[in-house]
Amino acid sequence: MRGCHGAEPVETHTTMAVFDDFRGIVRENEPLAPLVWFRLGGPARYFASPRTVEDLAGVLGRCREAGVAFKILGGGSNVLVRDEGYDGLVIHLESPFFSDLTVRDNIVTAGAAVPLTALISHSARAGLAGLEILTGIPGTVGGALKGNAGGRGGAIGSLVHRATVLDPANEIQIRERDDLSFADRDSNLDEPVILSAEFELRPEDPESLVRRMRRIWIVKKENQPYGHQLSGLIFRDPTSDVTAWALIDQAGLKGLREGNAEVSDRHANFIVAHEGATATQVLLLIDKVRQQVWQQFGYELELQLQVW
Ligand SMILES: Cc1cc2nc3c(=O)[nH]c(=O)nc-3n(C[C@H](O)[C@H](O)[C@H](O)COP(=O)(O)OP(=O)(O)OC[C@H]3O[C@@H](n4cnc5c(N)ncnc54)[C@H](O)[C@@H]3O)c2cc1C
Repeated sequence: MRGCHGAEPVETHTTMAVFDDFRGIVRENEPLAPLVWFRLGGPARYFASPRTVEDLAGVLGRCREAGVAFKILGGGSNVLVRDEGYDGLVIHLESPFFSDLTVRDNIVTAGAAVPLTALISHSARAGLAGLEILTGIPGTVGGALKGNAGGRGGAIGSLVHRATVLDPANEIQIRERDDLSFADRDSNLDEPVILSAEFELRPEDPESLVRRMRRIWIVKKENQPYGHQLSGLIFRDPTSDVTAWALIDQAGLKGLREGNAEVSDRHANFIVAHEGATATQVLLLIDKVRQQVWQQFGYELELQLQVW
């Protein structure tokens, strides 16, 4: 699941006829820029927004039969789409079917499309603590689980009780806590689609919880690009002691530009896309940063951002 900046988009030699049975669900040449945080990049050759898990399984089955590559898109906060677009099918999980959010005792169950903000605030209102460590991180439950989103306070994986996935044979499977492993911005949730997850939380007074969330949010806001800036978090930390942002900062690369793409001057592991920036400029800037960090410190930075 690691980012592969060098990989070429998969070529598909198909027509829309492949999806004739899914006319209401699959569209052609859909712009992806509005759906990703960078607001950059070209269209998806095919695009589906399934209403139910049956729709989803049907479309995935057809992709496999016809040899069409596919990707799952959540909140788009960890994806950069190349300017030429994605030559396959992008499945956007957004329908209410994938957005259920329920609380029972100390277990919160959330569909893959639930925004992290909703998951955190819903849990806090129910007086359940744990997920507030994710305050200020954009995205959805599915995307966050896939990449074990988190920060200094911990990561989402530590709170997962079980996950429901659609496996490569299109069967719904439950993955129990003991089957799951989470590492730094990584998980073993390698099935094609995460459908939902249960989080085991601990009771806490909602007021003190909200106060803690406010503190985390203030620190986040101070250390990230401004809210109005289109940006993405780029590299994994090379080790638990050596952070990507510190290496980039110490290499003197804050403010480095390639066209209208710039290494953030607030947090060196973010790239900001100014007006007129292209995905190609972001990729060239990533290469420049990598080269400089390699030359100055001997660390080969690995992408956390997924490049499609
Ligand atoms: C301003 C900003 C701040 C950020 N801060 C942090 C931070 O502090 N810590 C951190 O860890 N990350 C951070 N990120 C990165 C990003 O927010 C997380 O990786 C986020 O959880 C991704 O969720 P998403 O729904 O947007 O996923 P997407 O970007 O849509 O997808 C990311 C990956 O997950 C896969 N995916 C998405 N949904 C599913 C699904 N249902 N089933 C299977 N695969 C799926 C996609 O195919 C893709 O490979 C930040 C990003 C931005 C732009």
